[in-house]
Amino acid sequence: MSGKDAGERLSTYRGKRHFDSTAEPEGDGGPGEDGDAGHRFVVQIHDATTLHFDFRLEVEGVLKSWSVPKGPSTDPHDKRLAMPTEDHPLEYRTFEGVIPRGEYGAGPVIVWDTGTYEPLKADFARALEKGHVSFRLRGAKLRGAWALTRFRSGEEGEREAWLLVKENDGRAGSAHGTPDPARARSALSGRTLRGVAEAGGPAPDFI
Ligand code: MN
Repeated sequence: MSGKDAGERLSTYRGKRHFDSTAEPEGDGGPGEDGDAGHRFVVQIHDATTLHFDFRLEVEGVLKSWSVPKGPSTDPHDKRLAMPTEDHPLEYRTFEGVIPRGEYGAGPVIVWDTGTYEPLKADFARALEKGHVSFRLRGAKLRGAWALTRFRSGEEGEREAWLLVKENDGRAGSAHGTPDPARARSALSGRTLRGVAEAGGPAPDFI
């Protein structure tokens, strides 16, 4: 990642979107992004072509992102597939609303959980490049240690793929660790995906 600033890393993100149409942030450094920067995370639920969770960790000025079809599980036996997606701007942490029809990722998004994480690996960004990190989440819902591990490199025409797994600590739960995404409520607004879809458009600023 060294040698690239956040702006360069967001070129894929920007290339997929039309900012005169979608209310998603362009990522040019909005207010409130200067003070408490560091190790924040967000888990969004996104009802696009397929319903999925988006897991994002702040690393060196961007949100490193994975699409997790089944969502995170608090059961350490559940290895959840996590497909990497393009780096997102930090402002995406609070994005909740409806991505318009015809736009990339069209459909409603809620912020299911957000908070901070503590890296459990030295030189977190480098460890991520090498394909394995562990970290302790301090969210409104997710707590305790988790790991992300790359198991397919993405070379030779394969899609790169990772696993998101709860580590076996005092916070590990049993099989009921994943919410029903249709009933799950936003950590910011208390709304469900359906509530956001019915309201349409972007939510007011919460932070
Ligand atoms: Mn998504």
